[in-house]
Amino acid sequence: MPLFDFDLLTIGAGSGGVRATRLAGGYGARAAIIEKSRVGGTCVMRGCVPKKLLVYGAHYSEEFSDARGFGWEVGTPSFDWGQLIRRKNVELDRLEGVYRGILERNNVRLIEGEGRLVDPHTVEVDGTRHTAERILIATGGRPELPAIPGIEHVITSDGALDLPALPARVVIVGGGYIAVEFAGIFRAAGAEVTQIIRASDILRGFDADVRSFLAEQMEKKGIRIRRETVVAAIDATNTGYTVRLGDGHAIETDLVMYATGRSPNTTTIGLKEVGVALNHKRAVIVDEWNRSSVASIYAVGDCTDRKNLTPVAIAEGQAFAETHFNNRPRTVDYANVASAVFSQPPVGTVGLSEEEASEVAPVDVYLTRFRPMKHTLSGRDEATLIKVIVDAATDRVLGCHMVGMDAAEITQGLAIALKCGATKAQFDATIGIHPTAAEEFVTLREKRPARVRTH
Ligand code: NDP
Repeated sequence: MPLFDFDLLTIGAGSGGVRATRLAGGYGARAAIIEKSRVGGTCVMRGCVPKKLLVYGAHYSEEFSDARGFGWEVGTPSFDWGQLIRRKNVELDRLEGVYRGILERNNVRLIEGEGRLVDPHTVEVDGTRHTAERILIATGGRPELPAIPGIEHVITSDGALDLPALPARVVIVGGGYIAVEFAGIFRAAGAEVTQIIRASDILRGFDADVRSFLAEQMEKKGIRIRRETVVAAIDATNTGYTVRLGDGHAIETDLVMYATGRSPNTTTIGLKEVGVALNHKRAVIVDEWNRSSVASIYAVGDCTDRKNLTPVAIAEGQAFAETHFNNRPRTVDYANVASAVFSQPPVGTVGLSEEEASEVAPVDVYLTRFRPMKHTLSGRDEATLIKVIVDAATDRVLGCHMVGMDAAEITQGLAIALKCGATKAQFDATIGIHPTAAEEFVTLREKRPARVRTH
């Protein structure tokens, strides 16, 4: 008679939880996963996937107008936002089915309901107690809202992904990934967009050239960015909302969306009560093996607030399963994890920004901005930025950054080069593919004086 009901019991069927649990099940463990909402989690149901479908959908507005420069006469296109949302929801239903199927095929039991820890080996769901040798917390995160008067009137990315109709005017508060992505979606779909940021530029933490260049491209598309501005209060009016700013000004709008960061889902599942230590942001503190302060409890993904990206959560879930259920101990290497912002135009980045690199070594900076070939005929006033940061002493490439069409697709290949420790000389020895934007990464010869020098 086994001591526990399961070998592994996971709370949260998002990207990290599903990967860990289905691998464990596939390796023969008696595994179960608890989910209170939809199987697939933030990325598939409320994040990356629906967001990217909306980016594709909204971007057609530019494709239609660009086509004229190539001889197409497309008339006046019309756009049905509600239809895009319905089509997107059909795809999410399909994906949820795929995820459920993956769990089933790997003999993972899906327990639907809200899980709460009772002790280090027991989780209660709707009055039923389940025990396991190991418990994995993979509960993700949720939007965080500041406490200002009228905050109950705003939506977050959850609501934005299910808006039944496109508002004429949108105010977006925040300057991070989500705010920038939705500013691009709403603007391309045809709304008037004002983005309010408290800092002097968008995308804190990104390379300074990327930040200012992207903001410039967004402003050219008509997105109004109000910098160093805070919201004091939001009032509901007969027709919409008044966003009252800290500087005394006010903006009338039909919708207010907040994207001011996310916080870990850790406060209602009994973690503290069973002794799991949380940090000041309420994230589960784990070691490199994903183990919490309680020996039988582990955590992966956004609830640990390490690198809050889906592929990282998947890598953590995989490392956990390999370590405990396949006898192949492994940890995740967080260096040179590439990421993209699906803004319009998009950003791709891997490695260090110029500011970060300059902290560790003297650097050489290569940078080019140019008009992509497509826009010579489309006439669109949109430029591309490519930037490479090199360790001046070792010639190793420390960072690659791009803002422009296909940046995410291009950056994935560069991430392999950086993972292999490629040098600038090796980039230079690589023959480009012509004519592409990507070839600029291997033809950059002119150094630009580094903006930041700490050595
Ligand atoms: P971020 O942490 O990226 O950005 C939060 C933004 O909100 C910052 O601009 C911040 O300003 C601002 N902010 C925070 N608090 C306040 C406040 N009280 N008032 C006004 N502004 C405020 O959060 P997001 O919500 O955009 O995204 C959450 C996470 O989700 C990201 O960190 C990322 O890991 C992940 N994500 C990844 C995506 C991708 O890979 N493409 C896409 C979407 C999300 P300041 O700069 O001044 O601090």
